[in-house]
Amino acid sequence: MKPAPFTYAAPESVAEVIALLDTHGDAAKLLAGGQSLTPMMNLRLASPAYIIDLNCLAGLDYIEERDGYLAIGAMTRQRRLERSEVVRQHYPLLAEAARLIGHPATRNRGTVGGSIAHADPAAELPALLLTYGGSVVAHGSDGDREIPAEDFFVSYFTTALEPGELLTEVRLRRWPEGTGCCFLEESRRYGDYAVVGVSALMHLDADGRCDEVAVTLFGVGEAPYPVAQAASLLVGQIPGEERLSAVGQAAAEGVEPEDDVHASAAFRRHLSAVLTRRVLRTAAERAG
Ligand SMILES: Cc1cc2nc3c(=O)[nH]c(=O)nc-3n(C[C@H](O)[C@H](O)[C@H](O)COP(=O)(O)OP(=O)(O)OC[C@H]3O[C@@H](n4cnc5c(N)ncnc54)[C@H](O)[C@@H]3O)c2cc1C
Repeated sequence: MKPAPFTYAAPESVAEVIALLDTHGDAAKLLAGGQSLTPMMNLRLASPAYIIDLNCLAGLDYIEERDGYLAIGAMTRQRRLERSEVVRQHYPLLAEAARLIGHPATRNRGTVGGSIAHADPAAELPALLLTYGGSVVAHGSDGDREIPAEDFFVSYFTTALEPGELLTEVRLRRWPEGTGCCFLEESRRYGDYAVVGVSALMHLDADGRCDEVAVTLFGVGEAPYPVAQAASLLVGQIPGEERLSAVGQAAAEGVEPEDDVHASAAFRRHLSAVLTRRVLRTAAERAG
């Protein structure tokens, strides 16, 4: 299949992108890595009249540590996450998860900003953004605004980005040294989107008690699901097997998965309990 005809522009500055978005409104679509948009256009699930290609923009491809957080430019290719030294050393959960996003070929083109803006509820990067307690920077005609991860993912493929805004940067909070992490997903084949996945960060105090934890389930509903209430059962506790099972069960009770061609809602709920227990056990073992 070929896409419907469209007009193409390749602006070289963020200001030009915003001007084009303002001019063309809903008729325009931003093209980043094209790994989600192009198949949708080829299948005629999307038929934008105007394509604004972001690939000629300079200055949105970077991974840099700032004061207490990692800043990733929106046009950074997903593959760079696996190779970055700062990511491997200080954001190992991100490095662990990045290799599960599609295939090397899709990661070579697909961008960090594109994945987050696309907001597929079964995608890895949106879940990581929530787990790290991150945020995104959106740029529009009124300048920049920072949107916390917990306010960003609204529903299936829907975010808090306003019409006319470009996502320019993704920010991940740096957790303290000694934080344990784990990322697990169950998919039908290597490279497929997760049927269910879960990511976790856990920090233990000197007595081995959990003093901070963040867990996110994905593939279980309309948006990545922060397992906040269930995970709070761990705070102040030694993460033993019984408690981890209880947290897994509580997490599974909080999600509202749906049946689809890949799995039943009941199986997704079962996976939510099992995978949550497993990631937390491994994160606890790796902490310290
Ligand atoms: C075979 C295959 C397997 C895949 N498997 C996975 C997987 O397992 N996990 C996973 O997460 N993804 C998977 N993907 C999708 C891939 O990760 C995409 O790269 C990602 O979903 C979108 O990123 P992109 O840069 O390609 O964006 P594009 O496809 O170019 O754009 C996607 C959407 O985001 C919007 N957009 C892009 N950039 C911006 C921006 N800066 N600001 C505002 N809006 C923007 C576009 O307008 C469009 O609506 C797979 C893709 C393929 C082809």
